[in-house]
Amino acid sequence: MKKILYVDMDNVLVDFPSGINRIDQETREKYAGHLDDVPGIFALMDPVKNALESYHILAEKYDTFILTTAPWNNPSAWIDKLHWVKTHLGEVAYKRLIITHRKDLNKGDFLIDDRENNGAGNFEGTLIRFGSETFPDWQSVTSFLLAAFEHGEDNESIFSALSPDDEDHTPSCPMELIISFQKGDFSEDGTNNFSGKFILDVQRDWEESFHNKFAPFYANVIEGHPLAMLRLTKYMDAGEETDYDFGMELINGEIDIDTNLEIEKFSKFQTVYAIGSRLHDKEDEPLLLIKNDNMKEDILVLKYVPDDDGDETVPEEMPVATRSLKL
Ligand SMILES: [Mg+2]
Repeated sequence: MKKILYVDMDNVLVDFPSGINRIDQETREKYAGHLDDVPGIFALMDPVKNALESYHILAEKYDTFILTTAPWNNPSAWIDKLHWVKTHLGEVAYKRLIITHRKDLNKGDFLIDDRENNGAGNFEGTLIRFGSETFPDWQSVTSFLLAAFEHGEDNESIFSALSPDDEDHTPSCPMELIISFQKGDFSEDGTNNFSGKFILDVQRDWEESFHNKFAPFYANVIEGHPLAMLRLTKYMDAGEETDYDFGMELINGEIDIDTNLEIEKFSKFQTVYAIGSRLHDKEDEPLLLIKNDNMKEDILVLKYVPDDDGDETVPEEMPVATRSLKL
């Protein structure tokens, strides 16, 4: 059974200030201090950046509902919210709008909300505080919830991974940042369909998010399903057809860089072992690409893995390099 996820509207799905910008000066002055009472204002608002795309992604993994409060003194807000949901989300939110002043009375597992008002602070499940340092935007929220989905019941360990012990800089649990990497997110030329950024700039954003979360550590590994890795390298090649293989071979369950470099001599394919970091001053640092057949195709995981590779020897029986895949 899917877990239940609630999503707030104002300043989570809905960009509240965008509605204020669309009302005239006279109305703005008349309703100064209680702009949420302006008739019709809730129908004028734009979606928050990446909110709609994220909602669709999460609705596949979670039993997702919209949980919002409408002002008691603005009856049109109750109707406008329904119109907004129908207009911007449509079928995925069909009969999934709950308007209440007591969000804590709704049973469920997660609530994404920017405030603790109207019962949100007493919600029985996990409150994901939108706009906080941990969850500044939809990308961070979606990453977290996809990780929570992957890890099943173990939400606590995911939360503690998001808040590493920074006293001695020793991570108490794996440092992982899960990135949503849907097939429709990028054009063939490597441009992100939502932000318009080229894949290498998106990579920089991922690395920055990772470092912000786990400073002083930087990601040194990107792990993904072979098809996700192939798409990644293809976008980075700006859509050019290549004979690149990608990723490091696992030897006895571990990655041995020296051995992997030896393997390359036996492969007719040029192998992409790593891409350069996109962070300023880190350009010489590699991000290793690691294939993992057990992962889902629509995520990538950024990781920090301590480098304890001291083994210079190459096993006598050489593993065979994997074939290059074509999409
Ligand atoms: Mg809100």
